[in-house]
Amino acid sequence: MTGERDWRDGTRCVHAGLPEPEPGQPFLPGPVFAAPYHLDPERGPAASPNGYGRGDNPTRRLLEAAIGELEGGDCRVFASGQAAITGLLLAVLRPGDTVLLPADGYYTVRSFAAETLTGLGVTVRYAPTAGPYPALDDVRLVLLETPANPGLDVCDIAALAERTRAAGTLLAVDNTTATPLGQRPLELGADVVVASGTKALTGHSDLLLGYVATRSVDLLATVTGWRTTTGGIPGAFDAWLAHRSLGTLDLRLARQTTNAGAVARLLAARTDVTGVRWPGLPADPAYPVATAQMARVPGIVSFDLGDADRVARFLAASRLVAAATSFGGLHTTADRRAQWGDDTAPGFVRLSCGVEDTADLVADLTAALDASAPAAA
Ligand SMILES: *Cc1c(COP(=O)(O)O)cnc(C)c1O
Repeated sequence: MTGERDWRDGTRCVHAGLPEPEPGQPFLPGPVFAAPYHLDPERGPAASPNGYGRGDNPTRRLLEAAIGELEGGDCRVFASGQAAITGLLLAVLRPGDTVLLPADGYYTVRSFAAETLTGLGVTVRYAPTAGPYPALDDVRLVLLETPANPGLDVCDIAALAERTRAAGTLLAVDNTTATPLGQRPLELGADVVVASGTKALTGHSDLLLGYVATRSVDLLATVTGWRTTTGGIPGAFDAWLAHRSLGTLDLRLARQTTNAGAVARLLAARTDVTGVRWPGLPADPAYPVATAQMARVPGIVSFDLGDADRVARFLAASRLVAAATSFGGLHTTADRRAQWGDDTAPGFVRLSCGVEDTADLVADLTAALDASAPAAA
């Protein structure tokens, strides 16, 4: 008999965070909607784990158990990825501290740092995800994002963790793009994982979610205290939907990775597409570290179609690729990042492969690229 510790991804996803079977009860209990709960008239909040919804919710706790199992740590969920990331940064950093952020990572974190952290007296420095990384002695916290969104460079987490440990620096890894089935940063030496659960983790494009996961008792207490006092919690229904979606994570990611591989090979073979990036392509600069570090490569491919007009023609010609931001959902989507003020080239596209049949997707993309190709090509 195999124990839970030996379970593979699909089995772990299906069972993550579920309560012990009880006759007459559902597999995943429905959402508990409550602001206050009934209290014991004599013993008060000491009598039950549920007193008030900002701190206590059983639906949220089950989701935290599930994500914690997958990441290999203790988890606290937040209302969005940004709530989780900014919560960690604000809870840990103090005036005079220095934080090192990815120069090519999620741009809202950079605008938050420039606007808010700098104003609080925190020194913000940047390093490209692929390195080189500067001396870390005076750095309080390094936030790593690997693979980085949207450029898809990667960083060797274990190698950097050795350096942060030696310097007494906290290492946080944004695991949004990889998901805990792609890599487990806590096992590679990171102190804490932050992520958006809005993307591939939940994968149905119907909710926002974020989380922090750690093995440090102190850090968990700091983050829990921060969340309870600032209140950035997800609602019970979103927490329940997210947990319901986790059961298919392995299946969804497997198809997304297959689709991304086929799409990346298609794009790389075309002369009217440049700058194709997918860490699973052997020619990709991220390939050596990605294949050594990650259990699977995410379903996101980035490339350049030259200009905004070509991107618009491509999207209009495609029947399967929806114009949308975010990524990791069931439906294939493409986002011209420059339209959001991101510092990417005007024709740069981040394509998120959904779970459609691979042959249909490749045929649709081929037709849309042909139909939108510059006249000379
Ligand atoms: C989307 C994203 C975030 C922010 O998450 P939200 O749920 O949208 O707040 C943070 N980091 C990365 C890498 C992301 O892709």
